[in-house]
Amino acid sequence: MSTTLSITFENDFANTMEGFYVPWKAAKAEKPEIVVFNEELCKQLGLDETALNSDEGAQFFSGNVVVEGSKPIAQVYAGHQFGGFSPQLGDGRALLLGEVIDVDGARKDVQLKGSGRTPFSRNGDGKAAIAPVLREYLMGEAMHALGIPTTRALAAVTTGEKIIREGFQRGGVLTRVASSHLRVGTFQYFAARQDHEKLKQLADYAIQRHYPELANEDEKYLLFLKEVQERQASLVAKWVSVGFVHGVMNTDNMTISGETIDYGPCAFMDAYDPKTVFSSIDDHGRYAYGNQPVIAQWNLARFAETLIPLINPKDSDAAIKSATDILNGYLEIYQLAWLNEMREKLGLTERNEGDIEMVNHLHTIIEGKAIDYTLLFKNMAGFARGEETALLEMFEDKAEIEKWLEGWLGQIHASNRAVEQTANAMDCVNPVYIPRNHLVEDALQEASDNENYKPFNILLDLVKSPFEEKHGFEDYKKPAPKGSAPYVTYCGT
Ligand code: AMP
Ligand code: MG
Repeated sequence: MSTTLSITFENDFANTMEGFYVPWKAAKAEKPEIVVFNEELCKQLGLDETALNSDEGAQFFSGNVVVEGSKPIAQVYAGHQFGGFSPQLGDGRALLLGEVIDVDGARKDVQLKGSGRTPFSRNGDGKAAIAPVLREYLMGEAMHALGIPTTRALAAVTTGEKIIREGFQRGGVLTRVASSHLRVGTFQYFAARQDHEKLKQLADYAIQRHYPELANEDEKYLLFLKEVQERQASLVAKWVSVGFVHGVMNTDNMTISGETIDYGPCAFMDAYDPKTVFSSIDDHGRYAYGNQPVIAQWNLARFAETLIPLINPKDSDAAIKSATDILNGYLEIYQLAWLNEMREKLGLTERNEGDIEMVNHLHTIIEGKAIDYTLLFKNMAGFARGEETALLEMFEDKAEIEKWLEGWLGQIHASNRAVEQTANAMDCVNPVYIPRNHLVEDALQEASDNENYKPFNILLDLVKSPFEEKHGFEDYKKPAPKGSAPYVTYCGT
């Protein structure tokens, strides 16, 4: 099928990284239709919105047509999945179409996800159901709006065919935009094969693309590890600060760029509990909310292992020592990143030594008490303004929190910022609207079962401006109704 669509694709990865992918073609989609289109991202990419949000666009987003200049490929990678190493994963249902240079000059991968089998599909069908496609769309947009580095969705299409999941479901394809799709698992693939030449090529490519300032450094591979560690620590600190649970932090789902990727069984925590797990397959809570920081460190250790032959090709003991020194710094970097996120949420401008205790104490007070994590911070800004009821009503036993609030307010008043200003600043970082589980579920079900996209679009609209309270949408900021069944998410994308 030919097309009149024109997109200026570059194929930097495909052209320079032979051996890291296979050229491939999407499966044919029967009757593709665009169900959501991201105008804002389209503009950011400098693409023609009218041309793309069309029937021809649907053909493009389903993989039925390849525009001139795009060289679709499936990338290879490996990865630790729930702690066990799989030497051969790769894009089993995704195709990288190429890169687009956005209006700020940034290189962005454009990838189809759900576009059919590839040589890396193993036993999978290469397809995606529309509900998980929409979940990824929604979550990515919500995270982006919250200021959290993430891949984003440009479009979601239905393919017009039914695919087999639990029963039949409508098939879909997500068009995903990312700074790159390089993963810890990409490095692991070549490290496992002891292909040091390819490892070096990959590391140099990743450095050039994401950390160009390191390219001429003497110890660039060591510094590369350090920088990836910093970005990941900062990323996970942001996840934790908003109550996000990724759900499947396998090493193939950890990017080198520091963006959140592969929204599968992810969800936002309702009440604060470090043990929170949503994923139906995470039996032992490996990827529980509170485990995410240490899992990121575990993944970074796997990443570090792949770099050993590059860090010091002649002396692996020395390389291991230098890499270990860096990894040992993780906890401190993470804790500071997290503390700074919490300081912002709590409106603390001055950095006092006692902050960490104060923040930890707050977590101890709320743990296991069914107190909505998102609303808590929202209501705290109100409390600072003197509207005390909403916050206090969240607590059955008020004595402990009142004492804590006294200390906190004391600090707010002692700072040189006016209280009203502090409360306003808190409102700019503490969301009113997040993709709450019961709302997500309802929106996805309506879209998937009844082709009714209205609830999805309302929710998408709200989470795209998460800090802006909208009149008439009060229900969207409320927690799930009391007595709701525990929320369970599935990998079955
Ligand atoms: P994920 O859990 O989505 O990160 O995927 C892990 C691996 O399984 C990746 O290599 C995917 O490409 C592959 N995979 C997941 N779902 C499918 C599917 N339906 N068909 C083929 N491969 C898949
Ligand atoms: Mg993945």
